Amino acid sequence: MVNYILATEEQKDLAMNARSILEKYLAPRIEEFEHADDGHGVFSREILQHLVEAGYYGMGIPEEYGGLGLDLLTQAIIVEEMAKVEAGFTFSAFNAGNFFPLILKTGLSAEEKQTWADKILAGEVMGCFALTEPSAGSDAAAMRTTALKDGSEWVINGTKCFITNAPNADFFLIAAWTDKEQKPSRGITFFFVEKERGVKIGKKEKKMGLKLSETSDVILEDVRVPEDHVIGEVGRGFGAALEVLNEDGRIMDAVCALGVGQAALDHAIDYAKVRKQFGKRIIDHQGLGFLIADMQLRMESARALLYQTVDAICQGIATHHLTSSVKAYVTDSVMQVTTDAVQVFGGYGYSTEYPVEKYMRDAKIFQIFGGTNQIQRMIIMRDLAGKPQ
Ligand SMILES: Cc1cc2nc3c(=O)[nH]c(=O)nc-3n(C[C@H](O)[C@H](O)[C@H](O)COP(=O)(O)OP(=O)(O)OC[C@H]3O[C@@H](n4cnc5c(N)ncnc54)[C@H](O)[C@@H]3O)c2cc1C
Repeated sequence: MVNYILATEEQKDLAMNARSILEKYLAPRIEEFEHADDGHGVFSREILQHLVEAGYYGMGIPEEYGGLGLDLLTQAIIVEEMAKVEAGFTFSAFNAGNFFPLILKTGLSAEEKQTWADKILAGEVMGCFALTEPSAGSDAAAMRTTALKDGSEWVINGTKCFITNAPNADFFLIAAWTDKEQKPSRGITFFFVEKERGVKIGKKEKKMGLKLSETSDVILEDVRVPEDHVIGEVGRGFGAALEVLNEDGRIMDAVCALGVGQAALDHAIDYAKVRKQFGKRIIDHQGLGFLIADMQLRMESARALLYQTVDAICQGIATHHLTSSVKAYVTDSVMQVTTDAVQVFGGYGYSTEYPVEKYMRDAKIFQIFGGTNQIQRMIIMRDLAGKPQ
């Protein structure tokens, strides 16, 4: 069931269809994929292909390039429904196919851009966004990766870490200093880099959750790219990065988290209606019933804030701090709801036999990546104080 009550029938149909694809092909194999690769977990390109065939991969790619050109609101409704089935796979699949707007900002020819759109829409390629480095997380400007000009080429050197989809990626959006004398907003540039230019994949993370989304280091040693691989303008990479992190990034992080929270709540309600203690259903014990009512309240308010903001983005009137509010509020709410879902299940909630412990593990990361929730609060605070971001 689509929980956003203002969704149109068409949006509901699209979302339910995407969900049914994941229920059919992915749901029976979640445990297998979580434990695969010695417990690191794997992303399945085989399952991705089912989404590709139905048009859900790269679903925001404009119609003139052959995509569905779905707006952010419709994509959010679809992704929330998919994340109810499995958040890691959904997060990775959505991300990997969603970087075409940045490819459009390169100097590649119209034909080359069309070729990339075709490859994404055919499910042949996955992309990833590489900003974080070992000593540069929240403080992204502390990055050490550099790109130096050599004739008509840029030569990139550096190591990125915690990069979603890197182990499966065919192209990378890499942030590098092009002028260390400048401040970050003038000295950092983003590059579009194909894997075959010599990008190496390093250590793959073994994570507590979101295991169906693979994460690893990315190593660049004298990787050369032509000038037309610059995204936007040289030295203005932070602008391009913030665009991705701000609207699509933060919102879609929150959307995925919302799906996890709703799945946890749905399971908790179902369980509380059948589990009996002291001769009655646990939902009928007021202490536990109020806990579930609070879970519902958190989900309803998180969803309302999220979709109002998506609407504002679609109308071009969202502010910086609105998307930060969504990211922090929704993901904090979902962390609480998934933790409470484990409580509703009691000891069984702590057992891997039931899905709620997985929801709790998956929920945690959404408070961390895409800018931690402390950083989101910093953005809100600076915005309210009238300071530049
Ligand atoms: C599974 C996963 C996937 C990821 N995917 C990607 C990706 O695809 N691309 C990418 O570039 N990065 C990715 N990241 C990296 C992620 O964005 C960073 O982990 C995150 O930004 C935090 O950086 P950090 O881990 O270095 O923590 P730190 O920056 O070291 O922060 C540690 C703690 O200090 C707090 N803190 C830091 N500075 C302040 C401050 N000024 N005020 C208050 N508190 C502060 C933080 O909120 C946090 O609680 C991913 C990470 C994970 C775990």
